[in-house]
Amino acid sequence: MTGEPLAFPAPIYVTRPMLPSFEAYSARLASVWDSQFLTNGGAQHCALEAALNAYFAIPHVSLFNNGTIALLAGLRALGVSGEVITTPFTFPATIHAVAWNGMVPVFADIDPVTMNIDPVAVERQLTAKTSAILGVHVFGTPCDVHGLQAIADRHGLKVIYDAAHAFGTKVDGRHIAEFGDLTMLSFHATKLFHTAEGGALLVRDGDLKQKIEQLKNFGIVDEDEVAGIGLNGKMSEIHAALGLLTLDMVATEKTRRAAVARIYRSRLSALEGISFTPELTADAASQQYFAIRIDEERAGISRDRLHQELKRFNVVSRRYFNPLCSSYACYSDLPSSAPHLLPVAQRVVSEVLCLPFYGGLTADDAHRICDMIAWVAQH
Ligand SMILES: *Cc1c(COP(=O)(O)O)cnc(C)c1O
Repeated sequence: MTGEPLAFPAPIYVTRPMLPSFEAYSARLASVWDSQFLTNGGAQHCALEAALNAYFAIPHVSLFNNGTIALLAGLRALGVSGEVITTPFTFPATIHAVAWNGMVPVFADIDPVTMNIDPVAVERQLTAKTSAILGVHVFGTPCDVHGLQAIADRHGLKVIYDAAHAFGTKVDGRHIAEFGDLTMLSFHATKLFHTAEGGALLVRDGDLKQKIEQLKNFGIVDEDEVAGIGLNGKMSEIHAALGLLTLDMVATEKTRRAAVARIYRSRLSALEGISFTPELTADAASQQYFAIRIDEERAGISRDRLHQELKRFNVVSRRYFNPLCSSYACYSDLPSSAPHLLPVAQRVVSEVLCLPFYGGLTADDAHRICDMIAWVAQH
């Protein structure tokens, strides 16, 4: 390569939301206006719920105003209490949902390859107070769903998944939501499928779905009865209408992202000290993020310096999930937060960098980003 690569003229962010045409959205909104029904399970909401039911081939979908509130309500609906064993390598929302429910998060170390909660580490954290395991399919890589279920079965625990990154991820040809007692999805604008703000719970049990529906609507059963300490988790018609349009764009977006991923993988695998998350088949991958790992010793550059240097080229990468949840001030005093108990998570959190990854990124953009990474690594 010759000189320093040219910077992009405008920032290239880590993601960009799918957007339907403004005309198509306006047309859908026109029917919302006509109905004068803006929320509380209107036509758009019902249509989106049905479309997602079909997409996931799962009996029950419950839409929410965001993924965090969905997880909060889901944990409550399942009746878990005491201690919940979970991962420190996740977005704050996962752990906060446990704590807001008055339960104690207990951190278990992660697998060095998948970067997801390690069943062996979960087993070490079991106590008489443990009532659930909360796994996160980080970057769309599935957790060891069979290993975690086996532990849960032996000890009578619930299994809950934060699948915010795993829209469409499959294991053994089955959608990720078929595993565990309950799966949460986020439909935030940064997620592959989105409703600007939104989320859902996916469950197989009809009674659980009913409980969830009550909890997300203030605990209201009917005109005469409020059954529990509910909250407001309802998705509006405005958001559901957007989701009905973005859902139709998911397949094309995934194909485009897969093409970007192929460029990144083939170009960056030529660089010493850079590795990737496990490669899933096109059918099984969520294409939510493209994460690389930088082994500082072999690459000759640290993750943090690469992150910083890329900014000079107008490339905005992300150091997910730095810092670990176990090092937040609100959780660092927990016995399970001791760094020596989480050696793999400590290493992983210093190695991961998420690169710009969205369908609108051209092959040329992806190649230029690879040129920049190669150049920075050598200088
Ligand atoms: C985005 C995200 C959430 C939160 O979802 P919201 O819909 O923004 O509330 C939770 N967990 C993970 C892993 C996420 O990436």
